[in-house]
Amino acid sequence: MTDNTVMSNLNGATPHSNYSTITATDDSSEGSPNESGFMVNKRAMYEPGAVMVCSQKRACCVVTLSFVAIIAVALIVAFTKPGCPEATYTGEPIPGLSSRPTNSPPPTVPTATNGEEFPWTDVRLPFHVRPLFYDIIIHPNITTRHVRGNLTIKLTAIEETRAIIIHGRDLKVANYTLHNKYESQIAIEKFLEYPPHQQLYLGLSEILRRGSNYTLRLGFEGHLKEGLEGFYLSSYITAEGEKRYIATTHFEPTSARAAFPCFDEPHLKAKFRLRIYREPSQFTLFNMPLKSSAQVDKSGLMIDEFQESKEMSTYLVAFIVCDYEHVTNITEHNVAVSVYAPPTMISQANYALRMASHILDFYDSFFGVPYPLPKQDLIAIPDFGAGAMENWGLITYRETALMYDPVHTSSEAQQRVTVVIAHELAHQWFGNLVTMSWWSDLWLNEGFASFMENLGTDNAEPGWAMQEQFLVQKMHPALDLDALVASHPISTPVSDPAQIESIFDTISYNKGASIISMLESFLGRDLLKEGLRLYLEAHEFGSAETDDLWDALTKVTKKQGHFLDIKGIMDTWTLQAGFPLISVTLQDGHVTASQSRFLVCEENVTDPNEPLNITMGYKWHVPLTYITSSAPDKSEIYWMNLTDIEFLVPREVDWIKFNVGQRGFYRVTYDDAGWNALINVLLTDHEVLLPADRASLIDDAFTLVKGRLYDSPTLVQAGTINATVALKLSLYLPNETRYIPWHTALRHLFSWVELLFNYPAHKNMLEFISTLINPHYERIGWNDTGTHLERLLRSEVLMAAVDCGNVNAIQEAQRQFSAWRAKNESVPPNIRSVVYKTGVRYGTEEDWRHCWHVYNSSSIPSEKRLMLQAMAQTRDPWLMQQYLEYTLDSSKIRPQDVMIVLKEVSKNPGGRVSAWRMVRQHWPQISQLFGHGSFTIGAIIKSVTSPFTSSFDLGEVESFFEGVDIGPGERALAQALETIRLHIQWHQHNLDDVTQWLDTYLSKDSSEDDES
Ligand SMILES: [Zn+2]
Repeated sequence: MTDNTVMSNLNGATPHSNYSTITATDDSSEGSPNESGFMVNKRAMYEPGAVMVCSQKRACCVVTLSFVAIIAVALIVAFTKPGCPEATYTGEPIPGLSSRPTNSPPPTVPTATNGEEFPWTDVRLPFHVRPLFYDIIIHPNITTRHVRGNLTIKLTAIEETRAIIIHGRDLKVANYTLHNKYESQIAIEKFLEYPPHQQLYLGLSEILRRGSNYTLRLGFEGHLKEGLEGFYLSSYITAEGEKRYIATTHFEPTSARAAFPCFDEPHLKAKFRLRIYREPSQFTLFNMPLKSSAQVDKSGLMIDEFQESKEMSTYLVAFIVCDYEHVTNITEHNVAVSVYAPPTMISQANYALRMASHILDFYDSFFGVPYPLPKQDLIAIPDFGAGAMENWGLITYRETALMYDPVHTSSEAQQRVTVVIAHELAHQWFGNLVTMSWWSDLWLNEGFASFMENLGTDNAEPGWAMQEQFLVQKMHPALDLDALVASHPISTPVSDPAQIESIFDTISYNKGASIISMLESFLGRDLLKEGLRLYLEAHEFGSAETDDLWDALTKVTKKQGHFLDIKGIMDTWTLQAGFPLISVTLQDGHVTASQSRFLVCEENVTDPNEPLNITMGYKWHVPLTYITSSAPDKSEIYWMNLTDIEFLVPREVDWIKFNVGQRGFYRVTYDDAGWNALINVLLTDHEVLLPADRASLIDDAFTLVKGRLYDSPTLVQAGTINATVALKLSLYLPNETRYIPWHTALRHLFSWVELLFNYPAHKNMLEFISTLINPHYERIGWNDTGTHLERLLRSEVLMAAVDCGNVNAIQEAQRQFSAWRAKNESVPPNIRSVVYKTGVRYGTEEDWRHCWHVYNSSSIPSEKRLMLQAMAQTRDPWLMQQYLEYTLDSSKIRPQDVMIVLKEVSKNPGGRVSAWRMVRQHWPQISQLFGHGSFTIGAIIKSVTSPFTSSFDLGEVESFFEGVDIGPGERALAQALETIRLHIQWHQHNLDDVTQWLDTYLSKDSSEDDES
């Protein structure tokens, strides 16, 4: 792409590349340009061969770094003043600093870009100074993609120091000056940069005095890249087919430093003021409302000034230049809520506006702490790596997470919109108002937002049974991942950016939410709410650690006259990886329950978290709840405090079900009699148990088939059950009509279909599933009616019927696909997924091309996503290959969507080998595109390797990644490898049993059919 292309598409806006209009308009006196010149660190990831040229009369040294394969060779050119005295500041960590968690290897002597020693070794910043206020003036030139800015930081010295260390990445910094409060200048004698830690070092001529304030001024330059982080460029197509560009930001966790130099750690909060330049045809957004706009010159160039922010972390700052449209509402609590979208999509913004307004008011009341900003903007970004980002007052969303069209969007996609809005709004308190002190406690942000999203959604859409859905959305995925040795504790030490990125995962989000849900189950919502309020009030506009939350909750429980050692209980869940399997027996009213860490994989792999966790020895404080046949509605609780327990129940009890509603983050197994009694309940009168309890039995039974207990290597099979228990249990499903148990069952049953893929039992497994779902297929039908949950269920049952080869289902889907293609007959939203997928799977090349056309021309994000999923269903190897190759071309498939394609193609038995081959073949390119972002690289590795089930596959994956630096994907790779091992193990233990059971069951079934 060229600048001219950009310009010609900017609605006739006049190009400008003259930055002379930028001036620091800080009211204090201007600092003179620093004599020591400027330095450059341009990684040029997106600009092959880019070279920065020096223009100063300084000695110059050039360090060449070679970057991964195809793309990058970047020159790092640094300038420094020769012969200047060594800074006396040694970079020794100050007291207290060494207690910070760090996984970094012992540092070698860091060398700055100019070859000098960089005097600070820690990837964390020192505590000597902290920022109070940032005044940012920024001029992004969307035509040239050049960004130039001036920055004034007011800071205070916490300790005496002769150095300031600040973050910066891919920025050219110049004209730095430091003044004391009387505006007399303090010389900056040394300016060094250390790219591996993304740090800049300013050595000073005099000591900064403790408690005194100073003003740092500097100029900086950077580039708008076509990436997904930092200050980057995105684009959309107008109704007239014109490409328009927007400049937007995504900083979490460590990319604010790529937009402007800053103290980029979450606890270093400050106030921010922004002035930003733009074309007259555009407007700009910031965390705060606009204060004023002024024309700068005759070309029409404008500058917008925004109100000063509250104290906030750098990763929450956001600014956007665009030409969108918007809809606005004032909430009952008087906050202006607006949704921004490209003009072609603005008609799909009303649902988000209604939900956001409602949920914001709900949280206001729930937390008892008013939303502190005057406005809340929500904006759809065409290129967006995550689902959404909670920037304070300016939340950015992937289009599919914000846009809803009642005619076109499915209930599932609608729910996604509401849940994501509820999640991001919860962050406005949890994360933004009170922020985790350091990323090790990321779960405080993400676990809470993931917990609260359910309450927010439930309040806005009460018919959606969000409490039940919590199980399948949060709890089950978390239990799955946390049963791997390669899991990690919720509170986990991290230091460098790759480690930080890597904990944006199911553990921080879903396990975090699950243990808060468990906490709520024994505290009650009112106490939890009161504790949260206390916590928010105590730490507002500041930061906190996990223990601060436990303190607040302990205080409110004490006030109520209870004493619960909240920290003692919860530490066992946040500081240890994994969770317990509770093994119970019942004999003549005598119950014994024991706890052991549950791991699915037998192989003796060393637990990387072992040294940290050994103090608690993998024992937990378990709130063990149960119901019995004598009182199925009355939940009882016993505490297993790091130990096993025994207790009595009435002798006449026939069955006992533990972990009521699966509110506890643990699994339960029973002796044979216990399982049989529960299976019997399901077969005879399943509604005695709640849907959540039915789902939890299914989930436990299918998972326990795979697992082992951690602390009994000699009893490998202890605590695990025979595969036939799970199969027998699933026989009640023809009577099951609720969504949650069905969703759980289908997930597990089809995972067994995958595991049996290369074996004769594969066909029998599909036939077995058919016997379970066929009665429902007939009952549910193809009319898109009923409650929200009924619609979700219909969509899954119809797809399952097609996957099982149900001829009627396939024909009906094909019929609707043809009518849609030929006569443009609209397919009801919840039927679309199955119709499009089946149409492509059994269709022609023309059918596939039609979907490609719809993908490219539709302005409905949910429809585009369905097309991406449907096209992966093709059985034509040539089309499949072509589709995979499109992922390498961002003009065909946006980088943000590559993940969806790879995941869906890998699920297709005809595509998985090609997907794996593609990933290997183009690894350098994939790694360069996604290697630095949260979520993506790990998800790609997991997606393409998850169908693998043999030792051969394991060997291939291991040898490919050996010695490959995969940054934040490291842990995901370990999890992926363990999952393949688990699949191999599943075959060893279960293949014969499952094959035999299916044979017997199906022959009995057919002989019964013959008799009738
Ligand atoms: Zn979040």
